[in-house]
Amino acid sequence: ERTERLQKVLAQAGVASRRKCEEIITAGQVTVNGVVVTELGTKVDPDHDRIEVNGKGIHSEQKVYIMLNKPIGVVSTASDPQGRKTVVDVVGSEQRVYPVGRLDLDTSGLLLMTNDGELANGMMHPRHEIDKTYRAWVRGNVSAETAKQLAIGVELEDGPTAPAKIKIVESGKGETLLEITIHEGRNRQVRRMCEAVGHPVKSLHRTQVAFLKLGRLRYGEMRELTAQEVERLY
Ligand code: URA
Repeated sequence: ERTERLQKVLAQAGVASRRKCEEIITAGQVTVNGVVVTELGTKVDPDHDRIEVNGKGIHSEQKVYIMLNKPIGVVSTASDPQGRKTVVDVVGSEQRVYPVGRLDLDTSGLLLMTNDGELANGMMHPRHEIDKTYRAWVRGNVSAETAKQLAIGVELEDGPTAPAKIKIVESGKGETLLEITIHEGRNRQVRRMCEAVGHPVKSLHRTQVAFLKLGRLRYGEMRELTAQEVERLY
């Protein structure tokens, strides 16, 4: 259960500005579960408390959190000027949801979609250093030496990369499957890291974000996060 200050909930529901909402509360025009509340800063649960202004319920938008296995060939922006299929089209949610971060057009895997801007912004902020794990098939046989170099950090155009976790899952026949965990999220970072050590990426798939794993979701499939998962992300 997540609680927020009453004036913030009212403002977010579009009742009025935050300042004006404070006035409405102090004037005794707001009830929470049938009880008049005049104290500013009263904590409420926007998803479960019944909040009314002058006897009229506010419609706080239900929050949705979806984990999608993004297929290749779908863009992870809300709309595409070129008219290509987007992850929003794939999800087809009644609510307007947005992707949390991006995956390249040619990358598949775990992408979170939500209408919870606060959570999305929090997760995308570099300060939170959220781990993201990828499986990358790269050209060539990657040596232990090279794997170590990737782990320590490589020099890219926009600066050195932070330490990463690298595992050689399998190697042979001129290609290698790497498991790469990074917490940065620079543009095409995994591709550029592998390229920088002479092993261009052939295919890239994200299997995990923070503690969330794709599990058995197939390409294009999705599921809602559980309440416990959402709680843990906060
Ligand atoms: N790194 C990449 O190179 N591409 C992605 O889509 C995600 C991480």
